[in-house]
Amino acid sequence: MQYAILRKERFNDFIARLSEIQKLVAPVSKGYNNFAFEEVTTGDEIALKYIPTILPAKKFFLPRRETLLEFNDAKGANAEASVEYEPVTLFGLHTCDLSGIQCLNMVFSERPKDYNYITRKNKIILIGLECNEYCDEYASCHLVNASFPSGGYDLFFTDLGDYYVVHVNTPAGDEIIDKTESFEKAEVYQMNELKNLRDHKRKIFINEVPIDRSRIPELFDLSFSARVWKELEERCLACGNCTNVCPTCYCFDIIDEIGLNMKQGVRYRVWDSCQLEPFAKVAGGINFRKERSARQRHRYYRKFSYPVERFSRFFCTGCGRCTRTCMAGISLKETLNELIKESEDRVWRRWL
Ligand code: SF4
Ligand code: SF4
Repeated sequence: MQYAILRKERFNDFIARLSEIQKLVAPVSKGYNNFAFEEVTTGDEIALKYIPTILPAKKFFLPRRETLLEFNDAKGANAEASVEYEPVTLFGLHTCDLSGIQCLNMVFSERPKDYNYITRKNKIILIGLECNEYCDEYASCHLVNASFPSGGYDLFFTDLGDYYVVHVNTPAGDEIIDKTESFEKAEVYQMNELKNLRDHKRKIFINEVPIDRSRIPELFDLSFSARVWKELEERCLACGNCTNVCPTCYCFDIIDEIGLNMKQGVRYRVWDSCQLEPFAKVAGGINFRKERSARQRHRYYRKFSYPVERFSRFFCTGCGRCTRTCMAGISLKETLNELIKESEDRVWRRWL
């Protein structure tokens, strides 16, 4: 079955059954228009209309802190590699977050493959939920081609009023359909409704920044010395929040902690941030991105330039989290607008 129907009156029953299969995580409200991915067992707990969660789903793929190996002489073992994982179903992922997971998959599947990440990823079931309209003014998912479903999920739900049309994309998705016994076969009229909704979306999801997405890499080719980086130098607090909440930021530090008796210890990795001052410090005390302007520029190039060369895709999903969280009010869309304006000014100056 490629498409199935879940009637809304069966939704709570479906969620209850789904949570019995393995741990189920979904967006829940934390008040004041904040949302978080947390464990749920009933449909009533789930926020079906939500703006991107405070932290993205990457915390399930790349935990903020993760033990990599441990040793303990008393147990006679030299060192034991450790892989921490838990089977989990993530329900309600928007297309921007699915896109973020696709980015992480590409990075951690490159050689040398990240065994811990891949083991964990293979234990996670992904169920997407379509945004029928914009979440808020910070989103720029259409600009980076992340506003429509493009794979990377097991099941994908689209709300069509009284029912959800569900795209069944993998054998794991098929298994959920069978086990939860809540679905019907999709009829032609329901598929037509899905097509109408997508046609409508094409009209309301429009480029949030005035540039054709194919020209973004060229914009960045011309913007290394742009004024805007200097302006961000004055405003950025170097707190690292923007990278912590970003679904595609994956840098980590590795730390060894050894007991005072030198007989036991642990090696773990923790999220790191290119926005923190020591991030680019190397032996001899040299810091090759000491200025905040250079660190901000690096963040943007890691979204719109370098990954295009390496992976042929943007590593920005347009989720808007970095803008929502920034205490200094630094906005991704405003920065892009400034870069566009500055590059247009340069073209004009050439003609004068
Ligand atoms: S969240 Fe804002 S202030 Fe903090 S590092 Fe990022 S851009 Fe700078
Ligand atoms: S750069 Fe900002 S808008 Fe883009 S994916 Fe990261 S948090 Fe989301």
